[in-house]
Amino acid sequence: MANAKVDWANLGFAYQPISKRYVANYKDGKWGSGVLTDDPTVRINECAGILQYCQEVFEGLKAYKTKDGRIVAFRPDMNAERMYDSAKRLEMPPVPKDMFLEAVDQVVAANKDWIPPFESGGALYLRPYLFASGPVIGVKPSDEYQFRLFGTPVGSYFKNGIKPITLCVSDFDRAAPHGTGHIKAGLNYAMSLHAYMTAHSNGFDENMFLDPATRTYVEETGGANFLFVTEEHKIVTPKSDSILPSITRRSLMHIAESLGYETEQRPVRLREVGDFAEAGLCGTAAVICPVGKVVDHGKEICLPSGMEKMGPVLTKLYETLRGIQLGTIEAPEGWIREIK
Ligand SMILES: *Cc1c(COP(=O)(O)O)cnc(C)c1O
Repeated sequence: MANAKVDWANLGFAYQPISKRYVANYKDGKWGSGVLTDDPTVRINECAGILQYCQEVFEGLKAYKTKDGRIVAFRPDMNAERMYDSAKRLEMPPVPKDMFLEAVDQVVAANKDWIPPFESGGALYLRPYLFASGPVIGVKPSDEYQFRLFGTPVGSYFKNGIKPITLCVSDFDRAAPHGTGHIKAGLNYAMSLHAYMTAHSNGFDENMFLDPATRTYVEETGGANFLFVTEEHKIVTPKSDSILPSITRRSLMHIAESLGYETEQRPVRLREVGDFAEAGLCGTAAVICPVGKVVDHGKEICLPSGMEKMGPVLTKLYETLRGIQLGTIEAPEGWIREIK
């Protein structure tokens, strides 16, 4: 049943409150039971840990309608695991993985009429997050936390066709060496907003961040990992402790292997980017967004795949993962969670 109030064909990526969201509280050393609520408003103390010392971690995943009418989420167990790890790094009580999956199931099931139809190419974007709700003034972890999960319908990322983007090599860093770059925390985004706005005002789509210690290796953008393809069709992804382990990237590397491509995760120098045949960004939002050009302080590095379309190898990976998500290609064991 589709919601008559939504213009599915023209959905972008913007927050729109939907019927139900999941809320659970952590207090006195334990998690209370989670409930669904109609209320999109969070009420917390003025001195809550999230407001003072930024204790917050989050996730992002999508639920889809498949071609044959099922409702599925893509690898939510991986998000549960990653948020568990992120929480531990910020000294927060991790959300138990079964509670996380229960929240996904309940929110999707309670908002079925907010899931875009298969034909629209859209999805119900799910945003689980955990934050310090209890007051802290001396610097320490809070005693109280809240876990919430809401959804918002989003349109197809490539509504106007798949177009390669242009990146600029950033003079800012998104993560410190031995810092928090590898966890999904709002604080990493707060500090990358200035770099993002600067790149935009200079006419670029995104930043390419380099390794903060030596500024010679490629890390990632503000919210997506890199995949490169060599002339010999080997798939290469950068290796670094400050890169966020993208679930999309890990899934694509697995798919690449099962399609018979050679894969490699290794440090990638900025200097060698121009030697690759194709480049792309990967994340939940787009799956793969092709990169046509990288500008390093005025010096243009143009990928041979060009500015008109995604290269052939990344296209193959993209179509395979989309097919798995939408139920037209058989998924590896455990990748698809059906929600009734
Ligand atoms: C969320 C995120 C990604 C993409 O991860 P997916 O699990 O593929 O969505 C990449 N980089 C950063 C910094 C992120 O926060």
